Amino acid sequence: MDFQQGEQERENGARIAKILATFMDRVEAMELADVPAARGILLQMQAALAAEDVGRALDDQGAWPQAIANGLDVAKVSTSLFLALQATRQCAMIAGGGPHDRIGAVALTEPGGPRAASVRLAGPPWRLNGRKAFVTNGPVADVLAVFAAADGREVACVIPADSPGVTRGPRIAMPGLNGLTVCDIEFSDVDVQPEHIIEFAGKPNPRERYVLDADLTAAFACVGLMHRVLGAAMAHASQHERGGRPVLKYQEVGFKLAEMLTATHAADLLAMRATWMALTGNPEAATLVRCARVFCAENAERVAIGAMQVAAGQGYVAGGLFERAWRDVRGLAVAGTTLEVARMAIADELLGRV
Ligand SMILES: Cc1cc2nc3c(=O)[nH]c(=O)nc-3n(C[C@H](O)[C@H](O)[C@H](O)COP(=O)(O)OP(=O)(O)OC[C@H]3O[C@@H](n4cnc5c(N)ncnc54)[C@H](O)[C@@H]3O)c2cc1C
Repeated sequence: MDFQQGEQERENGARIAKILATFMDRVEAMELADVPAARGILLQMQAALAAEDVGRALDDQGAWPQAIANGLDVAKVSTSLFLALQATRQCAMIAGGGPHDRIGAVALTEPGGPRAASVRLAGPPWRLNGRKAFVTNGPVADVLAVFAAADGREVACVIPADSPGVTRGPRIAMPGLNGLTVCDIEFSDVDVQPEHIIEFAGKPNPRERYVLDADLTAAFACVGLMHRVLGAAMAHASQHERGGRPVLKYQEVGFKLAEMLTATHAADLLAMRATWMALTGNPEAATLVRCARVFCAENAERVAIGAMQVAAGQGYVAGGLFERAWRDVRGLAVAGTTLEVARMAIADELLGRV
């Protein structure tokens, strides 16, 4: 019994797990890799998964929620790898497609706030100036999708990461998500060709879609992490003996695992429901994505701490699965829309109905 939904899900999971198992040493090595090594591993993983739904979805612009959900089997194995792959996909989504042999990054957040305001595009000839903060894949990217303000309107510029005038800051040291490379990026008179400027006028706003995408990505990263630590905690509790029996036989431990199982599957179902609503164009999808963003992050934290408690001493070993997940989960509450801002947006939407 593994609580999977059905044969198809089990088959997909087994296929992706098989690919990941082949590369497990590299997925693990990603956590300790320097920037060049992290880039090499990510390129290998993008190529290896390109034939699977995770990679194919890079070409499928309409189905971004499905593309994120397809990555859940990767998220169950590595939160960092999942987030790095999603950043490439998000960049391709904004650019309108992209080859799988390049790494992408999306720069929206600015040091003064998460909206595109101080990074400016002026011209013609078009020049990009300003600074973006916390760009996932920034240190290893080939292509950057940069949100910018241009004469009162908002655009995205898709530029080679090695363009003259682009300066990537040092990799940001983070307590968790250690397989991810993140940096700030400075733009100084970067030349942008007109065909690389994505205009939003009269189209669905790609920034809003990117923000929803990032929130659903964070939700699925949490769901993957919850499945991972729950599985490890159940295995530990059924094997580790105290007082002559597995600790799972103690009600205190069993109840804790029961709550963790409930939270994990509730989060999984909510993220899937938000995906389905977004895929079917439901006008309330954005609110459900935000609900999933908040619920999954808060419960992932509870489950990560619960798993650590069940594993006790083993859970507190630095670099172990439980301790790493505990550090990763904090980053997932921040990356994307913060929980406070997401909750306010949900409340505003409800208020709008009064
Ligand atoms: C691991 C990681 C990866 C990331 N990757 C990317 C990436 O690839 N691309 C990218 O563009 N960004 C990325 N980010 C940035 C991330 O999206 C931002 O950190 C996030 O949006 C919050 O922005 P901020 O850090 O500027 O915090 P702020 O917006 O300054 O928030 C500070 C605090 O104030 C609260 N707050 C903010 N506004 C309000 C308000 N109106 N009302 C009430 N409370 C409010 C927040 O909830 C928070 O508690 C990443 C961050 C991390 C940690």
